[in-house]
Amino acid sequence: MLPVIALVGRPNVGKSTLFNRLTRTRDALVADFPGLTRDRKYGQAKIDEDEFIVIDTGGITGDEEGLDAVMAGQSLLAIDEADAVLFMVDARVGMMVADQAIAEHLRKQEKKVFLVANKTDGIDADSACAEFYGLGLGEVYHIAAAHGKGVRQMIDTALDGFFEPTVESDEDDDEFELGQEYIEDDEEKLLKEQERLAALPIKLAIIGKPNVGKSTLTNRILGEERVVVYDQPGTTRDSIYIPMTRDDREYVLIDTAGVRKRKKVNETVEKFSVIKTLKAIEDSNTVLLVIDARDGIAEQDLCLLGYTLNAGRSLVIAVNKWDGMTDYDKERVKSELDRRLGFIDFAKIHFISALHGTGVGHLYESVEEAYDSSTKRISTSMLTRIMTMATDDHNPPMVQNRRVKLRYAHAGGYNPPLIVIHGNQVKKLPDSYKRYLMNYFRRSLQIMGTPIRIEFREGS
Ligand code: GDP
Ligand code: GDP
Repeated sequence: MLPVIALVGRPNVGKSTLFNRLTRTRDALVADFPGLTRDRKYGQAKIDEDEFIVIDTGGITGDEEGLDAVMAGQSLLAIDEADAVLFMVDARVGMMVADQAIAEHLRKQEKKVFLVANKTDGIDADSACAEFYGLGLGEVYHIAAAHGKGVRQMIDTALDGFFEPTVESDEDDDEFELGQEYIEDDEEKLLKEQERLAALPIKLAIIGKPNVGKSTLTNRILGEERVVVYDQPGTTRDSIYIPMTRDDREYVLIDTAGVRKRKKVNETVEKFSVIKTLKAIEDSNTVLLVIDARDGIAEQDLCLLGYTLNAGRSLVIAVNKWDGMTDYDKERVKSELDRRLGFIDFAKIHFISALHGTGVGHLYESVEEAYDSSTKRISTSMLTRIMTMATDDHNPPMVQNRRVKLRYAHAGGYNPPLIVIHGNQVKKLPDSYKRYLMNYFRRSLQIMGTPIRIEFREGS
């Protein structure tokens, strides 16, 4: 799971500026979830190979009078969700009462806190920042978010310990030298992995934006099945894991809606949490994305979809609240789905009513098909044969007057299936041809409901 870093501080200290700097290199997942989450913003950031999630609490507009105003709602939740907190102060304005109130709160948390003094450009940073040591949060990191000064060093420190030290890998070189022998050895290991994955329960994350009907659907599923529900200590980051069996097939439902927790009195503000959802996707092997038919496809749906695909999870889509829709509206929703979700044509779409139970039973078929597809055994000989058929049907194009040559293919992993293709100039294959290959493999292997990845490697 990616580490989560929350940016906390008074208004105007530069949180959004830092957020934008950290996330702008990525076009992925920067999403506003309005409604329950108000203005909290989530972004995916990447420094070298290290990816993490940043939460910006920029929406706090408290009047800086004490803890209540400043730390209201959003910041508390962001802190709760985060692995580390960057507490930002303004080096130009100096220490404010509200900074002390925030510091006091943070000192009580069992969280890693980094005190970050921003806007140190063009001023004597050391003397401007000295007073912040009085907040009792240790080191004061000097940065200028607007110019990127000091940001890298501060982030490196904050992320320290979250990532395994990167070992220089020369795996690829080995493979070239050892050739076929290495691959056979590798295939044996992969086979074991495939067997292991195929025997796992289906870990199904039920996700979707607020109010699409996740709880209703989860309750419906649970109502029909024998389940053992057990209480788990929960923060806003935790989903509930519910083991169940259906037709001899083992499942673990990952309930992001918090069916159980909802009944508790103090569970009022927030039952939807983006981080919880992202974590559930990571933890799952199959995702059931619930969409509200009445809202059509919202940006938030696409955002969750993007994350699911990025994570390589098997996917089934449930368009909920199909009851009571007019024929006209049904047609409209279907054509919108065609138009906007055409790019994930491998995922099955079900039209259901969680409230009445209509269509819910059929979801299992697609879920099982999706997970089974993603762990279905694929052998080197089979893949190479399919690849050869594909290239015979349609030659790879010429690139700079030379024909791209594909030599052989082998499996590189499961859930999602990874196909590794070796050949000459393969990196130059146009995307259209890659898509052609992808579809050819999908049809020939009958892989449904899961993304397929193809990796091209130069050489034999
Ligand atoms: P937020 O309310 O904490 O999200 O603060 P913003 O990111 O919106 O920044 C508030 C103001 O501070 C804006 O006018 C920024 O341009 C300015 N600002 C942010 N970072 C820096 C910095 O490193 N140096 C200077 N001089 N100004 C900055
Ligand atoms: P969650 O936030 O995604 O867990 O959504 P809930 O399960 O709490 O449902 C939100 C609202 O939508 C509730 O009022 C449900 O009764 C309603 N709802 C859920 N499923 C359906 C459905 O299939 N049809 C209709 N008409 N309403 C539904």
